[in-house]
Amino acid sequence: MFLVSLNVGRIMNNRRVVIIGAGFAGISAAREFAGNAVDVLLLDRNNYHTFLPLLHQVVTCELEPEHIICPIRKLIQTQPNVQFATNEVKRVDFVSQVVETNNCLIHYDYLVLACGSTSQFFGIPGVSEYSFSLKNLEDSVILRNQIVSCFELAQEEADICRRQELLTFTIVGGGATGVELAGELAELIYGTLVNDYPVINFRQVRVVLLQAGDKLLPEMPLRLSVYAKRQLQKMGVEVKVASRVAKVMENAVYWENSHFKDLHFKDLQAIPCRTVIWTAGVCGNPVAKKWGLVTDSNGKVTVLPTLQVPEYPQVYIVGDLAAPQNEQLPMLAPVATQQGATAARNILRHIKGKNPQPMRYQHQGSMVIIGRHAAVVNLFGKVNLTGFVAWLLWLFVHLAFLPSTRNRFHVLLNWLWSYFSRDRSVRLILPLYPASKSNPATQSTSDNNKRVEIN
Ligand SMILES: Cc1cc2nc3c(=O)[nH]c(=O)nc-3n(C[C@H](O)[C@H](O)[C@H](O)COP(=O)(O)OP(=O)(O)OC[C@H]3O[C@@H](n4cnc5c(N)ncnc54)[C@H](O)[C@@H]3O)c2cc1C
Repeated sequence: MFLVSLNVGRIMNNRRVVIIGAGFAGISAAREFAGNAVDVLLLDRNNYHTFLPLLHQVVTCELEPEHIICPIRKLIQTQPNVQFATNEVKRVDFVSQVVETNNCLIHYDYLVLACGSTSQFFGIPGVSEYSFSLKNLEDSVILRNQIVSCFELAQEEADICRRQELLTFTIVGGGATGVELAGELAELIYGTLVNDYPVINFRQVRVVLLQAGDKLLPEMPLRLSVYAKRQLQKMGVEVKVASRVAKVMENAVYWENSHFKDLHFKDLQAIPCRTVIWTAGVCGNPVAKKWGLVTDSNGKVTVLPTLQVPEYPQVYIVGDLAAPQNEQLPMLAPVATQQGATAARNILRHIKGKNPQPMRYQHQGSMVIIGRHAAVVNLFGKVNLTGFVAWLLWLFVHLAFLPSTRNRFHVLLNWLWSYFSRDRSVRLILPLYPASKSNPATQSTSDNNKRVEIN
């Protein structure tokens, strides 16, 4: 089926644009090509687009995984010049202009690389082995299973120390994701799970937020950081700022004061726990470096202000993977969306013989939810809002930007249910399927001769 869809090939010798990654940047680029005489092939290892800003609500049993994802084919179905294939890209030959997937070799005239980012662990011992990341849908289900399983096990556990480990949840990183997760987790535990496990002493439960810097939400004005910290503390979260993680083990996380240098292991403070959630570092997807592109210390590809790779002007890098030479941009969905659209417009300009234009990012603001009636919003870098109004605005904006009407309907229904019932209906431990069963499209063909070449 996959080969049939690719074999449609070029229409009337149009230029072929290949987009790798159907996240915020890739989808935005594909949409910008609507109605233009180019053949676009969008590739992603999953057949769905994930609305990452609501991932923490899947972890904390507020939403089902399918509420925040949308089939990629649905997002492009009104664009006859855009095709999609579920395929993991294994390599790109930038000189020959060929993309190599597990099933085929695809020639491109222009390439948009939108592969996103991964967690960065800074070489801290034990973090990659023993902590949980939150970067994709699978991570969120794994993490939800872990949290609910800890309560199931704690209920049966007779040993007080082991029970304490099971009932302690440490979130590392006081940025937006860490703060949102800490708040929602506290609400789940003290609002819902407290009714499910009457035999557990909930005074033993700990939600700890460790932040290496001196304040939470470092990218936001001080007033909003202070508000976020106070709200989290009110909800029962232990917030520790200037606390840098030094080591993670299977049943403990060790931290030190960020201001002290050259501490010895014996000076470290330990938090006994089985669940460490790592939200403290993000870097560009390592595939870019693996495929031979020059990356900075954060794994991002340095690009011209037009988003082109200096050595390969027909290659554009967008979203979390891009580091434009002229400015430092945050890894945010609006940045990715605007970059995707700019790259597409520049390719169309290039085809028409015009010069590509530099990207100009329009920052509209940032917002973080903390809990019921509590959020912080910074609009255009000028207007700061907290509390109920900020919370309503957060809900409205996230609902509005969900990819489909079906997503909006389900999310709204769940939010209303949780709001009025003070209950979270989806506290399930879901089965996880091995990758080979869940996603056959990303499996490599062992025989390379079976690959189809598309010119
Ligand atoms: C938990 C969480 C919460 C967030 N909250 C917010 C928020 O509230 N507001 C905000 O603005 N931003 C938020 N962000 C950041 C925002 O989601 C990212 O900046 C944005 O998704 C970047 O878009 P992208 O297209 O570059 O990458 P992504 O959206 O990550 O998409 C990358 C795509 O590439 C695909 N891919 C990668 N490698 C391959 C390959 N080899 N072959 C095929 N496909 C591949 C992936 O499957 C994926 O679909 C959040 C991020 C996370 C993880």
